[in-house]
Formats: sequence, structure tokens, C-alpha cells
Amino acid sequence: MTLRPVEDHLAAILATVSPTPTVDLALRDALGATLAEPVRSAVDLPGFTNSAMDGYAVRAADCAGASTSSPVRLPVVGDIQAGDTSPRTLEPGACWRIMTGAPMPEGADAVVPVEDSDGGTETVALTAAPDLHRHVRFRGEDVAAGAQVLAAGAVLTPGRLALVAAANVATVRANTPPRVAIISTGDELREPGSELAHGQIVDSNSLMLEALVRASGVEPVRLPRSRDDVDSLTRALTEAAAAADLVLTTGGVSMGAYDTVKEVLSRSGTVEFAKVAMRPGMPQGHGVIGPRATPIITLPGNPLSAMVSFHVFVLPAIAALQGRPVDAANWRAPAVPGRAAVAWPSVPDKVEFTRVTLRRGIATPSGGQGSHMVGALADANAIAIIPADVTQVQEGDVVQCLRLVGTIPANNAAGEVSML
Ligand code: AMP
Ligand code: MG
Repeated sequence: MTLRPVEDHLAAILATVSPTPTVDLALRDALGATLAEPVRSAVDLPGFTNSAMDGYAVRAADCAGASTSSPVRLPVVGDIQAGDTSPRTLEPGACWRIMTGAPMPEGADAVVPVEDSDGGTETVALTAAPDLHRHVRFRGEDVAAGAQVLAAGAVLTPGRLALVAAANVATVRANTPPRVAIISTGDELREPGSELAHGQIVDSNSLMLEALVRASGVEPVRLPRSRDDVDSLTRALTEAAAAADLVLTTGGVSMGAYDTVKEVLSRSGTVEFAKVAMRPGMPQGHGVIGPRATPIITLPGNPLSAMVSFHVFVLPAIAALQGRPVDAANWRAPAVPGRAAVAWPSVPDKVEFTRVTLRRGIATPSGGQGSHMVGALADANAIAIIPADVTQVQEGDVVQCLRLVGTIPANNAAGEVSML
């Protein structure tokens, strides 16, 4: 039995995926989107010369020699607060009380922070002499109007969204946010909180995949679970193909007699099933379904297999839908190195994905590694990629680790910053 290499299976998946159409997206809907066109600033940033401190707008020359022992006293003309739109002028020998972000009056060339004064409102005693332009933010010093602030291909992170908004650009041209449909399959599956009869289990995959999709910045489309029967699955697939840009199923793809996903989709002629040289996650399928040739990835049902398959196959497919360049041969690229805390064995001739906790660069296998084992999933924040030709990881070896989507840095109980 020859197994298909991980990169070949990913390449076959990517061949079915094209970027979603481009649209004008309101910024509020654009988190995680990839820009199809560059963004140019509509305004200078800052848009007007303003104060960086709460204090007094002055002419620096009027404050020469000011110190605690010999303060300079100036009359205060009035207050300028943030949002003040009136034109203001500063005559020599006076000052304005000014707030952070408020426009500098014409003629002022420095700000004395309130901390270097007695806080006066009629007259003020200034106890420090400012350098010219001290605490002044100049119009256009950050970004000039018309300048490109983001290139095509940039992914909109929270910081970049702030930049686009500050540039007074309300919409961006980007690929339509992909919709990813999730169908779990299995007669044994029930909702969390159900009365479980002997032989029944909770459908944890659809919740996990929905959360993974959402944590990847993409909108999940959750569809009703399918039973292991042809009609139920056919209905779900038809609905999914119409509603989504990518369809994910879990379960029903191994060698069992009731592996309906395989049964139904094998007949379609547009979906192929393969054994991929990986553990967990060997049984995989992919192709297109429905009138729009919607890409589909059929994930194995075992929770850990589904988790690993999501990171190895689904994340790159989502990136391709978002219009990002993805190279199947470089599927390990997002991995970060970790040093093995202990030795552990690895299966020959397959890439082994070992669930690990990665903290401060140390990778420790977490809990039972069986593909059905969810017990230790709570601790894992990464999966170590152990190449097919490695049969033993030695303590201290550097292993490449894919961070699990949705595990964010936080302070742990020991007070150290780590993932999880
Ligand atoms: P299958 O691929 O359908 O043979 O499923 C493989 C294993 O994964 C079986 O033990 C299933 O009970 C389990 N499984 C399948 N789907 C889910 C699911 N949605 N949530 C949790 N476990 C599942
Ligand atoms: Mg099943």
C-alpha cells in the first residue's frame, strides 16, 4: 500500500480552491481579509498639528530660562480641548491651556506639560523651558495624504484596520470573507448535554471545527448533523455546497461498512479518497461538489485526527480562498521550533503529529496520543511535526511545531507568559 505524501494531498486540495470574488468590504467586516488592492491614505496623519501632552501651548522663546527656582509667568488666553475646531492664534507673551490631541494654535511652537507648571488657568507659572517643537505632533509626520499605507496582499490585522480607519478610508477591496460549512456525520452523535444511550457519543467535532474556523478569522456555516444514511448526507451536502465556499465533513471516510461520506462522494466522480502518510489523519478525501464546484475536504471522525487535518489541510485551503499565496511544498512553513522535553517514539514511514504543550521553546507531549483521545486536548497548544524518516525523537531534539489555532498567549498560574 503506497501512502500519499502530505504535500501531495495538500497540493491536490489547493488545486480545487480559487480565491473568493473581490468586493468592497466595510472595515467592520474586514478583519482577517486580504487586500486585493493597495490602500492609500485619504488624509495627512496627524491631520493637523496638535499637542502630545496636556499642558500649555507656548512660544518656546517666551519660556527661555524657566525653572523651578525662577518660573516664567504667562497669562492664559483660554482652553483648547480635543475636538476644538475654531481657529486659534497665540500672540507673543501669552499661552493657551491645551489638552492632548487638541490643535495647536497658530504661532505656538512648543507645549509645556502641566506637570511643569502650577496648573494655573488665568496665569500660569511654568517651571521648565521647552525645546522648540517639544511635545508637538506635526501634521503629516506619520503618513502623508495620498501615500500608500498597505500593499495589495496585506492581511487585515487589528493594527492595520486601525491604520486604514485613521487614514479615513471606510471600505477596502478584498476577497469576500470565505464561508466554511461544517457537517459532522455519524449515527452515534448527539448534542452536548444529551441523555446518552449506550453506544452514543457527543458530537464534539462540529463544535471544535466551528471554533477553529472562527478562530481562523472565518465565518463558519454550521449545518445539521447528518446520519449515516445516503439521503440525510445528500441533503446536507447539497445545502452546504450552495451556502459555502468550502465544505468540511467529519467521519465516514475510513474502511467501515457505514462510511457514508465515502460511499456517497465516491459515486460523484468529483471527490477522491486517499490514504495519506500521516498519523493521526490517514483517511482523507477531497474534491468538489455541487453546481458551483464547491471545494470539499472530508476529515476523519476521530477528534485528534480532525484537529490535525484542520491545521495541515484546511488552514491552507482557507488562506487560498482569502487570496493568499500558499505553497503546498512549504506546508511546514508556519511551524516554530521547540526542543523536545523528553524522548518519544514516532511511527515509521508516516509524518507523526504529536500533540504537545509548547512553553518557552520546550515541547512536551501532552497526555494520551490516541487519535480518539480528547482528554489531554485541553493542555495542548501545538502539534509537533515528526518527519516520516524519524522513528525516535530524542530529548533535546529540535522539533517543528504548528501552533494550534485559538490558543492565545496568556499569563499562566506560574506567572510566566506562555501559549495557553
Ligand atoms: P468514522 O470516521 O465515522 O468511522 O469515525 C471515527 C471515530 O470518530 C469513531 O470513533 C467516531 O465515533 C468518532 N467520531 C466521528 N464523528 C465524531 C464527532 N463529530 N465528534 C466526536 N467523535 C466523532
Ligand atoms: Mg462514522
